[in-house]
Amino acid sequence: MATNRTFTMLKPDAIENGHMGKIIDMIINAGFSIKAMKYTQLSEAQAKEFYAVHAERPFYGELVEYMTSGPIVAAILEKDNAVADFRTLIGATNPAEAAEGTIRKAYAESIGRNAVHGSDSDENAANEGVFHFAANEIF
Ligand code: UDP
Ligand code: MG
Repeated sequence: MATNRTFTMLKPDAIENGHMGKIIDMIINAGFSIKAMKYTQLSEAQAKEFYAVHAERPFYGELVEYMTSGPIVAAILEKDNAVADFRTLIGATNPAEAAEGTIRKAYAESIGRNAVHGSDSDENAANEGVFHFAANEIF
């Protein structure tokens, strides 16, 4: 059964390129409400753990380096069907394949530097939220 929460990060390229406010606006305009949010920078250990599922992929080293290269915004979002609807809002991993109107179509630089993360399942959304936020930071 679908839950109503997902987890996102606005990635270092999005912050660096000055897109933080516009992306948060797109998220809110799409009907998501913010249940937790912080401006932070991932340590190498945190980035490695967060993306551990990709540890054997050729892009893992580059991904960890990029995700630790500058500040990010981490957030827990709420909406009916949050995980699937947020994946639709962010668009395909590769911005060249992302649909018009999606966050990645508008703001991603490349398949690696693609502006935003969105959880891919309810289970991962819950785990990723807990990874970044203490209980008293979630509303
Ligand atoms: N990534 C990459 N090269 C690839 C595939 C993915 O650098 O060929 C990076 C990219 O930043 C992506 C992240 O690794 O967002 C996680 O990959 P995943 O396949 O889970 O894509 P997502 O769920 O973010 O769309
Ligand atoms: Mg993924």
